[in-house]
Amino acid sequence: MANKMSLMVPKETKPRYNSLCSDDELLDDDGCCESISDERGSWIEDFSLIPSCQNSIYLPNTGHVNAPPPREDSASTLTPVIKMGWLYKNPPQGSLIYQHRWVKLDAEYLRYFDSEKDVYSKRIIPTASITGVVNVGDLKFEVVTHNRTFLFRAESDLERNEWVMVLKDCVGAPRPQTSLDLTFNSCVASEMKGYLELRGLRSKLYTVVCLDKVFLYKNTEDYRLGIGITSIDMNVGNVKEVDRRAFDLTTPYRIFSFIADTDQLKDQWVEAMRNSIAEALSNYDVAERIWSEPSNQMCADCGAAKPEWAAINLAVVFCKRCAGEHRGLGPSISKVRSLKMDKKVWTEDLIQLFVTLGNERANQFWAANVPPSEALKVISSSEERRSFITAKYREGKYRRYHPLFGNQRELNNALCINVQSSDVCETLALVFCGADLNCDTGDPNLPSPIALAQHHGQKLQVEFLTQNRNTELPNSELKVAIDTMHYMAPPSITHNGFLFKTASMARPITEKKGKEEFSRRWCVLNDGHFSYYESDKNATPNGGLKMKEIVCLAVNPAETHGYDHTFVLYTDTERLYLFGTDNPETTREWVKSIAKSFIPVGAEDLLLKDFERIGRLRYKDGLNLETSRLAWFCLVGSNLHIRLNEHPRDETVDLQKLLELSIQPENEVLVLVERGRTLYIEGERKLDFQGWATAIQRAAGSSGDTLSQQQLTEANIPVIVERCIHFTTQYGLTSEGIYRKSGVNSKIAALLQEFRRDARCVWLKEGEHQVDDVSNVLKRFFRDIQEGLFGQQAHNWLSTTAVSDESSRVCQYHLLFSNLPRVNQATLRALVNHLYCVQRFADLNQMNLHNLAIVFGPTLFQTDGKDYNAGRVIEDLIQHYVTIFDVNEQQLKRQLDEITYIIKLRDNLNPKAGLASGDFICTVYLEEKKEMAEQHVKIPATMTAAELTFEILDRRKISVREKDYWCCFEINEKEETERPLHFQERVLPILHSLGTDSYLLVKKHFSMEAMLVYLASKVEVSKHGMMKFREERSLLGLGLSSGSFNDRYFILTNTSLRLYKEVRNLQKLQIPELQCSNRPEREWPVKCLKVYHGIKKKLRPPTCWGLTVIYESEKHDKQERQQWYLCCDTQNEMREWFATFLSIQNGGHVWPAEWLKSRAASRSAPLEARFGNVSLIPLRGSENEMRNSVAAFTADPLALFRNV
Ligand SMILES: [Zn+2]
Repeated sequence: MANKMSLMVPKETKPRYNSLCSDDELLDDDGCCESISDERGSWIEDFSLIPSCQNSIYLPNTGHVNAPPPREDSASTLTPVIKMGWLYKNPPQGSLIYQHRWVKLDAEYLRYFDSEKDVYSKRIIPTASITGVVNVGDLKFEVVTHNRTFLFRAESDLERNEWVMVLKDCVGAPRPQTSLDLTFNSCVASEMKGYLELRGLRSKLYTVVCLDKVFLYKNTEDYRLGIGITSIDMNVGNVKEVDRRAFDLTTPYRIFSFIADTDQLKDQWVEAMRNSIAEALSNYDVAERIWSEPSNQMCADCGAAKPEWAAINLAVVFCKRCAGEHRGLGPSISKVRSLKMDKKVWTEDLIQLFVTLGNERANQFWAANVPPSEALKVISSSEERRSFITAKYREGKYRRYHPLFGNQRELNNALCINVQSSDVCETLALVFCGADLNCDTGDPNLPSPIALAQHHGQKLQVEFLTQNRNTELPNSELKVAIDTMHYMAPPSITHNGFLFKTASMARPITEKKGKEEFSRRWCVLNDGHFSYYESDKNATPNGGLKMKEIVCLAVNPAETHGYDHTFVLYTDTERLYLFGTDNPETTREWVKSIAKSFIPVGAEDLLLKDFERIGRLRYKDGLNLETSRLAWFCLVGSNLHIRLNEHPRDETVDLQKLLELSIQPENEVLVLVERGRTLYIEGERKLDFQGWATAIQRAAGSSGDTLSQQQLTEANIPVIVERCIHFTTQYGLTSEGIYRKSGVNSKIAALLQEFRRDARCVWLKEGEHQVDDVSNVLKRFFRDIQEGLFGQQAHNWLSTTAVSDESSRVCQYHLLFSNLPRVNQATLRALVNHLYCVQRFADLNQMNLHNLAIVFGPTLFQTDGKDYNAGRVIEDLIQHYVTIFDVNEQQLKRQLDEITYIIKLRDNLNPKAGLASGDFICTVYLEEKKEMAEQHVKIPATMTAAELTFEILDRRKISVREKDYWCCFEINEKEETERPLHFQERVLPILHSLGTDSYLLVKKHFSMEAMLVYLASKVEVSKHGMMKFREERSLLGLGLSSGSFNDRYFILTNTSLRLYKEVRNLQKLQIPELQCSNRPEREWPVKCLKVYHGIKKKLRPPTCWGLTVIYESEKHDKQERQQWYLCCDTQNEMREWFATFLSIQNGGHVWPAEWLKSRAASRSAPLEARFGNVSLIPLRGSENEMRNSVAAFTADPLALFRNV
């Protein structure tokens, strides 16, 4: 053993009664360890061997996290030491001699060592497992954990009291929920755990490799309780294989010689430990760079060493304990990030910003005037920290006031000038003294300070400004202001003049009010009161209302009533007041004055907008569906501006781009589904809510006759265009003469009208709508659209046909295309893509390139068709589609393949007697697979998973509540997996692909709620992180699988899932130019992945939260299929990954916002042929069997009944 030691020092002179492993609780307390062998003793002695150079207390390597870690902190080391010193520990059983121990406490752990020079402890107790600290007199105190009590004795009363105090403070500190678990098995993220023999020790130690550390426990029980022997920081580690089963973990302080049970296990341990070293080293990269500025090596708030946390907007670095208080301020004040774990945020610019500013310079601003009595110390309590940090950053109490403080114009001016220089310190001072980040620079080309900084190449300025875009400024009154924002009295406004008014009403005004219904009144707005008088001579008002009663002000479009310009006031007593004049100026003045006097100070910037409606409403959104909150709303064109309670700035919803908009009439809620979130606007009162609902619906509908005024999809394509194209692709590509045949005029007109009214609500359905009608709606839409699809430039497109050289012509089109407005671009691209597909199937539909061009040329250019130039353009666009629109050919091929599949499917399902166009009968189970739960359902080609679900629920008369997420699952018994079908997913193609081991089952989706809440909280739907990965490898084609689960880093974006082996390099991904050099090891397009819950047990997944993923693609006409497995550490993690997949694959539309309503709709559809429980056709068979049985059934439906 001794020859293994690379570093030796003379042994300590202090008497030792026990060595590490023979320590009391390891051997005696538990009563389970028989005896200490000499052998073991010798191993223990090694623990006290310390390099001789190290005669000072070595802090950095002793701090620890991890058992049990708050999830987010799990990788941090170097937690600052709160207190350390010599104490006596109670003697082990059978001994009377107290042991002298060097004891160290940090926020995470209480540890003790043989000596102050030791790096590896004899005992490590998570503070989270400590349930009490008790003063037991006689210089003694007890540290109580769930199952053990540690007794310590101090040298003096003072010393003892201090220990008790700091310990209590640590224990009393609020803790993340994870530690409320009764188990303290810390390492949820453990890479590997199990028993390992440590050379020289008789019994094996339970060893856990977790992130950047290795923990040693006496046994699994201790591991579960979190109480270990020691932990090893892997940033100083090195792993060397020794022989078949042995390997060494070398650190500068000790060599741990491990022996695994088998050579396979050894390989796994070695890999796990090497990964852990890589993790540790990568963790240090950012921290080391930020610490390269010396002042960043001390907490900006309390001075603790090696702080690992930072507020990326305030430009300060601080310790873990201060970080907790920073978090309490909320992200609008302090955006707290870890130097180690949040690798993704640490871009090169941000790191540079921290090195340039640094704690010293930042504190010259933030802490310019700290009274010594208020300054924090390393040992300050949580309360002291909280009040100091609040005062410092939220109130700006100690800041150095900028000379321009209070002079907004000059501050803004100075900011605009300064951001062009490299002086970020000055920018920090300006911004946190009130300079407006969004102020007008006076230069329309560089409208904001950020743009200015960008233009002048000041990357650090850009970084700083960007991080502070949404920062709430320090404000001493803020604490009060936050709670009362909506009630803060608006300034008292005075205004008077003549207005015409009608009698107040309790119902919405639906009819035009003639001038005769108005009477002229002298109106006075003063001191929060609005009063109207018979004339300006009268002293007694006819009536009036208090400004604070007003909940909404709506400005009518001109000429709504007899007086040209009118507005309506809604009060909280459910009355409305109509006023008007013929003078637009007068109306404007009044509207402004009244709005000013009821909109609170906090929301006053809404007044700057040219609103048609402003007022307060209650709302709920994704993160908080329990309680609704108050917000101020203002409608301007198709934009709804919202001043939400807790946000300092407005949010804007582009109503034209909503995925869904609906009213739940029973509880008067307006549901706005945007990509990524759902907003519920509630009616507190009927009257003004009705007004809002109508106005919002109108604004969300088509607002005009040009392309860009239509309801748009996320991709900027008018909804009408997308729906028509989709329908025609599904049902019309084999229809002969599609787009040339005329359809039924009255139906076309009616459908077009429906689309114009509210395109989002029009769902084209096979059977209900005819292909030729729909195709003509599309044509007519383009023919009528104002300004045409090609806009002002139409003649340039037409004249391009004169260019004889094909490639210059294509270039010219390309250029013209790039000059189109974005909506026109997106629409043209979508349409030409569609036409390209149509002519690819010309052998079926007879519409070749030329035929399509004849039809669409005049339509799109809105010409009479006498001149073929228009057709020629279309011909060119379709023919050179790939070049002109920069099309990804692979994607195009996939699209064509899909269409071919659709056509094939529909071909096979040709309408036959008995069943309408290709219905199948299928067995579906309710809640579980058993005979009683069998249902036989006719599946039309168009049936979606949601429709199938409702069908099943309806049959069983199951009443459904809003939060019952009933879902149709595809269950695979053999693979032990299941997949909830997306509600819009067509059932029939899935039935086709189901193997004999699979069936459909309708049951509640219990994670849906959690997934929706998670998705609603995300701004950008993407995810990255570690998962355990295993691939299905086939050995010798025998179908034997091999391989094991290994940690891999994954990045899931809206296009692809990428796998990285080397975590270390990932932070470089922040820098775009380095991305190419950091190619992922594997990459899959998200669209080709099918994700299932569950992993078959045979594969021994390391946790029960696994996903089975199937990748299918066609490369070079060869079907490629891979199956692999992902394992997450927690159920939450798994849900988040799954939700992210789901959201990406379905364009953010994971669950219908109003699925109960859609249920009602589906129920109203005729449901003939309900076969009840009679088993009709066994549909779990090969595709052929299925077809045969369907064919048999369709030939003679009754034959099957006869057999029953
Ligand atoms: Zn601190």
